[in-house]
Amino acid sequence: MPFTHKPDEHGLFAASSEGRAVAMFRLVLAFMAVVMLVFVATEAWRIWRDYRAAFIFAENSVVNLARASAQHAEDSIRQVDAITAALAERLEGDGFTNLDRPRLHALLRQQVQIMPQLHGLFVYGADGTWLATDHTVTAPKANNADRDYFIYHREHTGRQIRIGSVVKSRSTEELIIPISRRLNYPDGSFAGVLLGTIKVDWFVRYYGDFKIDQSGALVLAKRDGTILVRRPFVEQVLGSSLADSEVFRNYLPYANEGMVETVAVVDGTPRLYAYRGLTSYPLVVQAGLSRDAILGAWRQDVIKSIGVLLILLIGLSLFGWVVLRQLRERIVIERALHQAHQTLKDLALTDSLTGLGNRRRLDAVLDVEIARARRQGYPVALVMMDLDFFKAYNDRYGHLAGDQCLRRVGEVLGQALKRPADLAVRYGGEEFTLLLPDTDGHGAGLIVQETLQQLRRLAIEHAGSPFGVVSASAGIAVAHPAQQPISSQALVAEADAALYEAKRQGRDRCCMAQAQG
Ligand code: GH3
Ligand code: MG
Ligand code: MG
Repeated sequence: MPFTHKPDEHGLFAASSEGRAVAMFRLVLAFMAVVMLVFVATEAWRIWRDYRAAFIFAENSVVNLARASAQHAEDSIRQVDAITAALAERLEGDGFTNLDRPRLHALLRQQVQIMPQLHGLFVYGADGTWLATDHTVTAPKANNADRDYFIYHREHTGRQIRIGSVVKSRSTEELIIPISRRLNYPDGSFAGVLLGTIKVDWFVRYYGDFKIDQSGALVLAKRDGTILVRRPFVEQVLGSSLADSEVFRNYLPYANEGMVETVAVVDGTPRLYAYRGLTSYPLVVQAGLSRDAILGAWRQDVIKSIGVLLILLIGLSLFGWVVLRQLRERIVIERALHQAHQTLKDLALTDSLTGLGNRRRLDAVLDVEIARARRQGYPVALVMMDLDFFKAYNDRYGHLAGDQCLRRVGEVLGQALKRPADLAVRYGGEEFTLLLPDTDGHGAGLIVQETLQQLRRLAIEHAGSPFGVVSASAGIAVAHPAQQPISSQALVAEADAALYEAKRQGRDRCCMAQAQG
C-alpha cells in the first residue's frame, strides 16, 4: 500500500479498536445464528425420530392385535368344527329313525356348557324341522328350512363346515354366527343339517378386552368381505361388506397378511391396519389404530417442544439483542472517538496560519519518502524557501500584515504542488519547505522558479526590499537514496545550505545544492 499523508488517514489505535468491536458484533451474530440453528435442528431431528418411533410401535401393536385375534377366531371355530364333526359321525352312525331325543338333548347341552363361545347346537331334519337342540324349550313347530345355510347344504354335498353371516337367533334373539354341517343318510342323500351357533358377543367381549383407544378398530369378516364382528360394535355394520375396501381389493388377493395405511370404509377414519387371513377358515381379521391415536402423544410432545423452543429462541434473541445493542453503541462511540482523534491529529500536523502542513508533518513523512524512493529507485527533491527581508516587512507594515503576507505565500505554495504525494509545509517563521518525491533537480528547479515567479506576480508591496515587492529565496537539494543512502537531516541541511547560497548570491532566486545536484 503506497504511503499517503492525507488527513483522513486512520489512526492505529482507533481503527483496531473499532475493528475489534465490529468483529465482535459479527461474531455474536454468527454465534447466535449457529446456536439457534443447532437448537432447531436438534429438536427437528428428535421430533422426526419420535414420529418414526410412534409408527413403528403402532405397526407392532396392530400386527400383534391381528395375530391374537386371528388365533382366537381360529380356535373358537375349530372347536365347533370338531364337535360338529363328532356329532355328525355319531348321528349318521346311529341313524335318524330311532333317535333317542332326551339323550341327544343331554349330549348337546353338555357340549354347549363346556364351550363358552357356543350359543347353541341344533339338529335339523331333511325337511328343516328341529330334531334336537341343547335348548330346553324348542320353538313350537319351528322350521329352519328357509335359512340360507339349510338351503346351501341341501344343495351342496360338501362335508366341510360352512360359516354363515350374522343372524338373530330365533330362539333367544341373540346375534349369532351359524357354523353348519351337512348330515347324510348312509346312501349319501341329504339327511339334514347340524348347526352350531357362536355368539357374536363372544368376540365382542374378547375384542373389548384389548387396550386400544376409542378410534381403534378390530374386525372379523368373511373372506368375501362380509363383516361378522367389529369393535367399536355397531349392530348396523354387521353384514355390510368390506369387499370394496383397500385391504380386500388390493392386498388380500396377493398376500394373506400385511399392513396398510388407509381410510376406513365403515367410519371414514384414517388408520394403520394390519390384516391376516385365517389359515383354516375363509375368514379375515383386521386390526387398526387411528392416526390420531398413534400420533396423539407425539403431537402433544411436538406442541410442548415447539413452545419450549420458541421461549428459548425468544430468550436468546432478547439476550442477543441486548448484547448487539451494546456492541453497536460501542461501535458508535469508537467511531466518534476515532473521528475526534483524527481531527486532533490533523490539527497537530497543520499550520494554523496558512493551512499548510507544519514541521511535524514534514518530520513524519520525510523518512518514509526517502525510504520509499530508495526502494523504488527514484529521486526525491527537498526545497527550503525563506522570504527576503521579512524582518523589515514586519517592521514597516506591522506583524498582522506580515501574517497576511505569509498566508498569501502559503496559497501560492499550495497551488504550486501538482501531485498527491507532493507536500508543502510551513517549516517555521517565514520559512517554507516543499517535499517533491520522484522529482529530479530539473523538475524541482522548474517548480521553484514558477513559484518564485508567482510570488513576484502577486506584487505585494515591500518598500524595505530592494525589489519593491515581497520575494523569496530557495535552496534545492535532490537525493537518490537508491544510489547513496541519505538521512532526512542531511537532506534538510543540504537544502538549507543551498538556500544560504541563494541569499548570499543576492536573494529572489534559487540555488541547487552541490553535493547531490
Ligand atoms: P533574509 O532576507 O536574510 O531572510 O532577511 P530576513 O529579515 O527575512 O531575515 P530572517 O529570515 O532571519 O527574518 C525572520 C523574520 O521573520 C523575523 C520576524 O520578524 C519575521 N517572522 C518570523 N515569523 C513570523 C511570523 O509568524 N509572523 C510575522 N509577521 N513575521 C514573522
Ligand atoms: Mg528566516
Ligand atoms: Mg527571511
